[in-house]
Amino acid sequence: MKIGTAPAIAKKLAKLGLLSPVDLALHLPHRYEDETRLTAPELAPAGKPVLVEGRVLNTAVKYRPKRQLVVHAEGLMLRFLNFYGSQLKQFQRAADEGLLVRAYGEVRPGFFGAEMVHPRYRIVPAGEPLAQALTPVYPTTAGLSQYALRKLVLQALDEAVLDDTLPEAVRRRHSLAGIVESVRCLHLPAPDAACAELIERSGEAWRRVKFDELLAQQLSMRMAYRARRGRNAIALPSNGPLLRRFLGKLPFRLTRAQSRAMAEILQDLAQPHPMQRLLQGDVGSGKTIVAAIACLAAIDAGCQAAVMAPTEILAEQNLRKFSEWFGPLGVPVVWLHGGLAAAQKKAVAKQLLGLAPLVAIGTHALLQKKVAFSRLALAIVDEQHRFGVQQRLALRKKGETRSAPAVLAPHQLMMSATPIPRTLSMSYFADLDLSTIGELPPGRRGVATRLVADGRRAEVLKRIREACAEGQQAYWVCPVIEESKEGDLQTAVDTFALLRTELKGLRVGLVHGRLSADEKTCVMKLFVKGQLHLLVATTVIEVGVDVPNASLMVIEHAERFGLAQLHQLRGRIGRASGTTARESVCILLYASPLSETARARLKVIFETRDGFEIARQDLLQRGPGEFLGQRQSGMPLLRYADLEKDAALALEAREAAEKLLDEEPQAARRHVERWLASRHEFSRA
Ligand code: ADP
Ligand code: MG
Repeated sequence: MKIGTAPAIAKKLAKLGLLSPVDLALHLPHRYEDETRLTAPELAPAGKPVLVEGRVLNTAVKYRPKRQLVVHAEGLMLRFLNFYGSQLKQFQRAADEGLLVRAYGEVRPGFFGAEMVHPRYRIVPAGEPLAQALTPVYPTTAGLSQYALRKLVLQALDEAVLDDTLPEAVRRRHSLAGIVESVRCLHLPAPDAACAELIERSGEAWRRVKFDELLAQQLSMRMAYRARRGRNAIALPSNGPLLRRFLGKLPFRLTRAQSRAMAEILQDLAQPHPMQRLLQGDVGSGKTIVAAIACLAAIDAGCQAAVMAPTEILAEQNLRKFSEWFGPLGVPVVWLHGGLAAAQKKAVAKQLLGLAPLVAIGTHALLQKKVAFSRLALAIVDEQHRFGVQQRLALRKKGETRSAPAVLAPHQLMMSATPIPRTLSMSYFADLDLSTIGELPPGRRGVATRLVADGRRAEVLKRIREACAEGQQAYWVCPVIEESKEGDLQTAVDTFALLRTELKGLRVGLVHGRLSADEKTCVMKLFVKGQLHLLVATTVIEVGVDVPNASLMVIEHAERFGLAQLHQLRGRIGRASGTTARESVCILLYASPLSETARARLKVIFETRDGFEIARQDLLQRGPGEFLGQRQSGMPLLRYADLEKDAALALEAREAAEKLLDEEPQAARRHVERWLASRHEFSRA
């Protein structure tokens, strides 16, 4: 279907994602304006747009304080800072002919009484009838006026074939209104329509549209899931000798949550179809060992496994853990990172192409073109939220073995320490199975959090001295590495120099993103081995770093960090288990005065330790767009539904999606096409 309009306009519509009359018909108002009644200017409520009217008395261009068009009307003054000469004439004529100006916008008290700046207005004769219903306002783009867009939408509404994509039974089961009348009612509100319902997006019409949108999203993701799940993979049995041996002498007893996650993963791996699973668990909940166990299933089957981490430091840490665990089993662990010399890289590449089973540990380096695996059966992405969709996709592609008769896809395990609230994960991870480690290993003493104004820095230094004297280690986290323009941010480098003089006698190290991989690794090694007391760092230590002996953390300018970041950082301490473990302390140093939002963030971090609760608060404070980001979600965000407010409806849509796919796949496909065909759509990695 084509929209019968001029190419220039079609181009603008395309920019809005509107390619067909159906798209236009489903392009719904993002708000409504109430022009059904007049408000007396002097009675207009503050901060709320209203429709007012007054007889035009005179008009003039003034030059103080700035060039502007000023219109005096009865009981009302209008100002226009940008205006055309024709507007001046228009108002002059209106004054001569005794016409009225009818304006929509916010009224503010001014020096000469009620005043409006740049209102939307019309010149009308006395007694001009008011609008009968709410005026819809559409999302639009530069050069396409509300008026023009609205005309096109209404035209499309008549032309588009908007039959109902939902089977009668689904509509009945979920008590949904018809799509045609719902869409009509949103575009052309009836005079007696409940204004509040339209404006607040409650009511039956919005409910139907939101349901359709949520359903389309669920359907598309479940379709992607089923398509991938339908492919072939190497089945990895979970009773192989290495796996059994390792489980027989684990370095610690798995928590119940770890055991459950392990069982879920092993069960998936044993299927001849690719696993697509997300392992969620708060920082320190012990995901690494679960990943290691999964790798052994691959090794037992004579295959390869790969573990990719977002930073060198993390990859190196994974390497250490895996080597320690797998060394005694004789399982080769291969290390691939950006810092390898060409000859080493070549040797590793050769190993990966060989036939011997192995585990490859690395960073993005694993994704390089030259890196190819002979038999990759399991791809694990650690801290998956730090990778983009494309990178996750790339790792999966790596493992596709073109052996006859069908392409074998590797099993996929994503790990994340950034818990996603249920409402979001239900939508955004609908194409993954979910395992959650919801408890920490026993014996953790927890972390006490203290908020300290930066004026009390001396006390903090004293605290560090004491802790280090007792053999503990500490982190000092700074927000950036370079002096910012305002000069109020302490650089990690400066802080390092300062702390070194302030803390004479303590060994202080520095790690930040600008160091070379080797330098970083070298400093981290010293810290891990306990040869540094204090590590000054930027957020490069944010994810995953595990040094159990570090029990004190100072976060400088804590007010500048996001919630998820603060939670991740704090998760670096309080990692020791056992009865001898000390209580860890996280000191949030802040510069006063705090802004409203910074105060709210720090309050959440101070009050809760639960990653899921923090994520929920983060979502509330930032909204889903920022929380996930396009990159992370890989999905266009919902236009009409709101996952927080419409959580119950999302749940219904999810159930309906599964049922529809099973029972009426044709209808499911049509529904997705209607809602997503013209939308920019990613198949998720
Ligand atoms: P994360 O889930 O953040 O990746 P890690 O896997 O790094 O956490 O584990 C955090 C620390 O807890 C590590 O030192 C790990 O060896 C230890 N650990 C993991 N599971 C257990 C357990 N069941 N009992 C005791 N310690 C554990
Ligand atoms: Mg980890």
